[in-house]
Amino acid sequence: WMPDTTLAPLDRAIAERPEAVAVRMGDIALNYADYGHAVAMLAADLVMRGAAGGTVAIILRNSIALAVAIFAAQRAGAACATLNPDYTLHELTPMLADAAPQLVLCHADRLTEMMAVAPAHAQVMPIPEDRTFLANLFARDMASLPAFPTIAPNTLAVLQFTGGTTGRAKGVELTHRAIATNIAQREAVLPTDFGDERILCFMPMFHSFAAAMCINLSAYASGTLVILPRYRPDWVIEAIAHHRITRLPAGPTVFNGLIAQDALTREGTQSLRSAWSGSAPLARETRERWEARTGVPVFEGYGQSEAGPILTYFGPGMIAKPGSVGPALPLTHLRIVDPADPSRICDTDEVGEITAQGPQIMRGYRGLAEETAATLRDGWLHTGDIGRIDADGHLFIEDRKKDMALVGGYNVFPREIDEVLMQHPSVAAAACVGVPDSYRGEAIVAFVTPRADRLADSAELADHCTRHLVRYKHPARYRMLPEMPLTPVGKIDKVALRALAIALDR
Ligand code: ATP
Repeated sequence: WMPDTTLAPLDRAIAERPEAVAVRMGDIALNYADYGHAVAMLAADLVMRGAAGGTVAIILRNSIALAVAIFAAQRAGAACATLNPDYTLHELTPMLADAAPQLVLCHADRLTEMMAVAPAHAQVMPIPEDRTFLANLFARDMASLPAFPTIAPNTLAVLQFTGGTTGRAKGVELTHRAIATNIAQREAVLPTDFGDERILCFMPMFHSFAAAMCINLSAYASGTLVILPRYRPDWVIEAIAHHRITRLPAGPTVFNGLIAQDALTREGTQSLRSAWSGSAPLARETRERWEARTGVPVFEGYGQSEAGPILTYFGPGMIAKPGSVGPALPLTHLRIVDPADPSRICDTDEVGEITAQGPQIMRGYRGLAEETAATLRDGWLHTGDIGRIDADGHLFIEDRKKDMALVGGYNVFPREIDEVLMQHPSVAAAACVGVPDSYRGEAIVAFVTPRADRLADSAELADHCTRHLVRYKHPARYRMLPEMPLTPVGKIDKVALRALAIALDR
């Protein structure tokens, strides 16, 4: 089924399964009839405040209100811009300026500060905690509902801000068609069981990964979205067993964190049909340890906010290709091009920049014509990721262009060294970065988090790397870290690690 708006899956679930639990958090649960009602009531408010055709900024922590607000903004004919609620005012100000929202939805306790940073024309609407938020909506009179605008597939649905690790955060414009098609594309490779899914959402809901894999997908599957306030390994393990969760969308750091818990058992994860990894590279070692512990298969996908967000998926029934993120989704074309000469398409298995075409790709970055022109070239999205495609069309990601290092004239992909280090039995997590080096141009510094029950010794790790990697890829230094710094969406923060490596070298 190929819906052409993000609201079509929700409307189908409301019509076909009104009594089924749509969303659950803590002791609050809403069935699809009530979920639809809440969305309509908030949408009515947004329409009356002039949101149609504009943008609604949503700055909320994981909550039922956040899911309701996303659909309500879209039903009101606006694009929703979900922003990290932990951002400081300094971080939010440029994003709000770019987004130019008609309305800003925020937690009641941040009302005053939001009023100070919201653009002059924007109205700021405080959103109370879920119980009061829902009680207020349900107390309103249905008869007062205004007519909602008709949503054309090319209407903007989402303004998704990127993490901004490379500089300023950019607002990615995605239409209803882009988002709705992307769910169906993914579903073609990795089908869910209609009417019988419980999807756990602890990833930050403001990010494209959770929007796609949790909020929109759950509506598409007419399933139950079980929300946690945030990731905490013991909460996740408890929630899986308690709510008989069927799907676990997560990033690689989460799988590493869960494996480290004794409470993670086969019995406790029996209800899981699969886990879905994305947003950062999943080390083979992590996958193997997870699968050995739980017996639950992990399927990995690759994407980015600019691509609606999913481009590839390795699904069930595909030929096993360790290290691959699968082939392009249906209707998606991938091409590897020479980074030095993007007009040259690389050969099979030749490493270059990943470019993509498909209905899920963004329209552009809001207000940033130059960045848009540099990223969308001749109809192809330049992802900034380096990879190769094999003879079967399976994509292998080497690293991010910006994380590559040049050591003594050789291109080094730190991710490859991370993978090798992860294979060492003492290593729970590893992340390598390139730092300036007066002799070789750049040198590799390896950060390692040892497993709780073991000691990792630099000499032993160096020996391990010598056995597995050619000399120029060997880390120059090893640094032990009890925990890796993470980005707001839970990826290992290589920018922070690079800064730390440089500071430690001084
Ligand atoms: P910014 O683009 O501002 O740095 P970000 O990293 O948070 O922010 P996202 O859209 O969340 O932006 O992340 C997309 C990137 O994540 C991809 O370009 C790629 O580098 C990485 N990524 C996503 N999935 C995978 C995967 N399965 N394997 C390897 N890398 C992945």
